[in-house]
Amino acid sequence: MWQTYGHDWATALLQQALDTQRLSHAYLITGPAHIGKATLAREFAAALNCTGQTPPCGECRSCRLAHDDSHPDILVVQAQEHVLKIDQIRSLQHDLALSPYEGRYRVCLLIDLHLATDEAENALLKTLEEPASRVVLVLTATDASLLLPTVVSRCQVLALRGVPEQRIVQALTERWHVQPDRAQLLARLAGGRIGWAITAAQDENALAYRGQALDDLLQAVIGGRLARLKLAESLGSLERDELIELSSLWQTWWRDVLYANQGCDELVVNLDRTSALRSLAGQLRPAQLTAACNSVDRLREQLGHNVTARLALEDMLLNWPLATV
Ligand SMILES: [Zn+2]
Repeated sequence: MWQTYGHDWATALLQQALDTQRLSHAYLITGPAHIGKATLAREFAAALNCTGQTPPCGECRSCRLAHDDSHPDILVVQAQEHVLKIDQIRSLQHDLALSPYEGRYRVCLLIDLHLATDEAENALLKTLEEPASRVVLVLTATDASLLLPTVVSRCQVLALRGVPEQRIVQALTERWHVQPDRAQLLARLAGGRIGWAITAAQDENALAYRGQALDDLLQAVIGGRLARLKLAESLGSLERDELIELSSLWQTWWRDVLYANQGCDELVVNLDRTSALRSLAGQLRPAQLTAACNSVDRLREQLGHNVTARLALEDMLLNWPLATV
């Protein structure tokens, strides 16, 4: 029984391969961050060595070891500090030369292969071209186009898509016992990224952080030039990854105000802030809201180009309209 939610076609396909023992030497699971790629990869690795009646049973010794990343025949290789290096591939190749200790297969999970250096990816090609028997490689990446075509062509590709909102609500309420209102909000905020929704459901800080970020945003909208320059200064010291994450929150916010302004309330994402959204939507003109949306897009572009974060933030914040909430 698969525990991976929302990707039924992919689990059915892998189940079929297990049942018929017609396995590919390599699989590539693609899709946006937090959509469930690594969860599916780990579960498939467990299923390959499961000794239960209906793999992956989730209960046998093999499944339990796999779940904790401590199965001797399941090797997990992932980026360290956002890079996957050639040494990691070389050490993997050394380990793969050994036969399975206790499982039927040696499985290697290569998580986030799009973070591999060119040398590392080229080295991996050798392993893909000369597959050893009883070895299965499971690769994950956000997008196949970020990998060498020669790597992709050696794999069976499973391209995961966003999980429908109602499916996320169902998973959160039934499996994780989240209250319906909270489940609906998390599912909407997740935008298909079921892994994000599940993590956020278990971590109070995830929503608290977002709440604080939205409060800061509103303070900047109410406050004048000085408040905005101060905010730009304090945000300017954040890591770029964190700013990119925050900017996607600002993006959803200004789009929400625009939707509310246009009477498309059903598209609003920040469901717990509808009164502030409606208040802004009532005071501002569509052109001002489009300008705010564009200013966030511009910031995101600039963050990718090594522009000083504080200056890019000032440019964005000073383009936001002034309003009261
Ligand atoms: Zn099992």
